[in-house]
Amino acid sequence: MKGDVLVLNSGSSSIKFGLYDGEEPALPLLGHGQIEGINGQTRLSAFDRNGESVIDEVVGDGLDHGQAMAALVEWGRQREVARDIAAVGHRVVHGGTLFDGPVLVTDAVLAELKKLDPLAPLHQPHNLAGVATLTELQPEMPQVACFDTAFHRHVPELAQRFALPRKYHDAGVRRYGFHGLSYEYMAQALPDIIGPTLASGRVIVAHLGNGASMCALRNLKSVDTTMGFTALDGLPMGTRCGNLDPGVGLYLQDEWGMSSAEVSELLYYRSGLLGVSGISNDMRTLLASEELAAQEAIDLYVYRINRELGALTAALGGLDALVFTAGIGQYSAPIREKVCALAGWAGIKLDAAANEQHGPCISTKDSATSVWVVPTNEEWMIARHTRDVLNSAAG
Ligand code: ADP
Repeated sequence: MKGDVLVLNSGSSSIKFGLYDGEEPALPLLGHGQIEGINGQTRLSAFDRNGESVIDEVVGDGLDHGQAMAALVEWGRQREVARDIAAVGHRVVHGGTLFDGPVLVTDAVLAELKKLDPLAPLHQPHNLAGVATLTELQPEMPQVACFDTAFHRHVPELAQRFALPRKYHDAGVRRYGFHGLSYEYMAQALPDIIGPTLASGRVIVAHLGNGASMCALRNLKSVDTTMGFTALDGLPMGTRCGNLDPGVGLYLQDEWGMSSAEVSELLYYRSGLLGVSGISNDMRTLLASEELAAQEAIDLYVYRINRELGALTAALGGLDALVFTAGIGQYSAPIREKVCALAGWAGIKLDAAANEQHGPCISTKDSATSVWVVPTNEEWMIARHTRDVLNSAAG
């Protein structure tokens, strides 16, 4: 491929971007940044390949997605970075049942993806707004959609089923799983880092960021994961509740008179670490806090990770390696220590010094299950997919 790959991750109030050198086999990062404060004070910040800041400015007030993207494209044009962009890769949260891999965006593809808005109302419309805006601004630019669901698309059918009549499953009411781009990155990175034999065994990856999930890998393929129909299920997260008896939602509506919008707001934005602590959704703040409620939120978080570890280990029929990644997984030695202390049942023995150094291997030599810290890189994965799709489209 000739030229660079721009990766866009359009969220509700920000657009994150990364530029990769598409002509180098290893796809090195040339620069990255974000536009924050969409619909508020809109700020553009960017860094070059050495991590030096190249811009950090307010670019407008109350810009919508389209205007923010236009500001980004204009800035790129002025800086002469946009000239060599050969393709744009987008993170799209939901690929539904139709897409099990990245796809070149056409009008027909976009129409299919729009149908999935109700399945991920907080992410999908913003992801697609990025695609639609760029189509308007640069109609000739090839765009590739990369899905958070795709990596889990072929988990065993039982892991996809809810215990509902089949017609619901057939209509798309099923467990999809998310964070797939992160797990896919892990699947391609793990053989080099933890060794090919271990990597192809029974591995659980804990992606503990603002959003959090865990994935069971066998032979580097997803066989089950903690998130389900929406990105609410599984582990408690920064502000999302994680696994919750569906009866709670019904009860709050029927008995407390909460509207579905109010329940949705509670479960997505006022639960998880923030909801339990009443203090913050940021693990750093909670770890530094003396408040009892902060401790309770941390204890619940760790308890639930251990419980899901048990469930996924059962799905795998045993466990060879546990891998931590994303903000909390990668940088928080105290959380990893607490998880490993509860996971003695899995034969895990933590090497405290290695854990303080953030690994990569943080278990002792005689630990029956080895434990690792491996940084994820979803943006790079999108850049790789985008180049691959373009190369195969070019024949
Ligand atoms: P996202 O899911 O938005 O991509 P990240 O993977 O970057 O998020 O994770 C962000 C979260 O990681 C923050 O909310 C914070 O709680 C946590 N985090 C980052 N660094 C640390 C740290 N040193 N100790 C504890 N938690 C951390």
